[in-house]
Amino acid sequence: MDYASRQQQFMEFYPAEPAFRWAQIERGFFNPKFSGWNDVLNLSKAMRQNLADNIPWISAKLSNLQKDKAGDVFKAALELADGQKIETVLMKNKRGQWSVCASSQAGCAMECGFCATGKMGLARNLTSDEIADQLRFWLYWLRENKTGAERVSNIVIMGMGEPLANYDNLKTALKTWLRYTDIGATHITVSTVGLLPQLEQLLNDQNWPPVRLAVSLHAVDQKLREQIIPSTAPDFFIKLADWAKRYFKKYGNRRHHLTFEYLLLQNINDRPQDAKLLADYVNKIGRVKINLIPYNKTSARLGRSADEQMEQFLAMLEKNGTVVTIRRSLGEDISAACGQLANKS
Ligand code: SAH
Repeated sequence: MDYASRQQQFMEFYPAEPAFRWAQIERGFFNPKFSGWNDVLNLSKAMRQNLADNIPWISAKLSNLQKDKAGDVFKAALELADGQKIETVLMKNKRGQWSVCASSQAGCAMECGFCATGKMGLARNLTSDEIADQLRFWLYWLRENKTGAERVSNIVIMGMGEPLANYDNLKTALKTWLRYTDIGATHITVSTVGLLPQLEQLLNDQNWPPVRLAVSLHAVDQKLREQIIPSTAPDFFIKLADWAKRYFKKYGNRRHHLTFEYLLLQNINDRPQDAKLLADYVNKIGRVKINLIPYNKTSARLGRSADEQMEQFLAMLEKNGTVVTIRRSLGEDISAACGQLANKS
């Protein structure tokens, strides 16, 4: 079920207010000096009081916070109005910039065998507020903990859930961030399991924001992908290649670059010949970047490829002319890494 967003609640209280009123409020949500309704001085005192009594200033409250050994990764379990819990992660990169990893759903329906969130099943979609407020939560947190950091540089939608299965709310949240923060579209990445109807939808959507997209490929063989990603559609690779070509045709610039994520699973998809197949597939499409992901431990009986195996895989891809990077695993000791978010702290 979907919950009413704060904007919908506001409109119910004040149907006659001009549209800019809500924009003033949203600007206030992202004003680092504001901490509650009382700070939004464009509103009358009575209105501020009523809103403070009836609409939460932020849609999630902290339930548990963990910090990794290195002190670069923080994981927050947030409790939502109906008691659902989600997790969100804040990470510092080598250059000292902060990234937020946000969830799009409570749980996930995709049942990917290697992912801890997949084991939980789907509880519900997050509202646009609940998605957007994960960034606000960390901005407030950075401020209150006197980290010296004032801004978040990047957002990845790689937390719990399949973002494109919650298309409308995701889109609203993305647009909110783009409108009210200094984070640009090229610094936001939406990672999807590759839902073809929604990929098609965004291609035809005039209002889809120009954020980056990453598709979780994890295999280049239909049968293998069906085994590890049960949501795989028939003829997935043919259809995805066709879609990707049209995506590049429509957004023919670097801003819209596309990444294929490839999770390396020991003895499953990590042989040199798998790398060759991946390179051939990508080269047919053109301009797709490959991001290799080391496997982070979950309860599944799967192994991380040995460093040497990953190096060989990478070398094979490079030899075949693809652009490829390896993702640094962060926060594994607090189960904050990719695929480990499952509300178990
Ligand atoms: N539903 C989205 C977001 C998932 S999380 C998607 O499927 O893309 C972001 C990435 O982490 C995805 O590529 C996902 O497949 C990967 N992932 C999931 N479980 C993982 C694990 N145990 N170790 C490493 N990466 C994992």
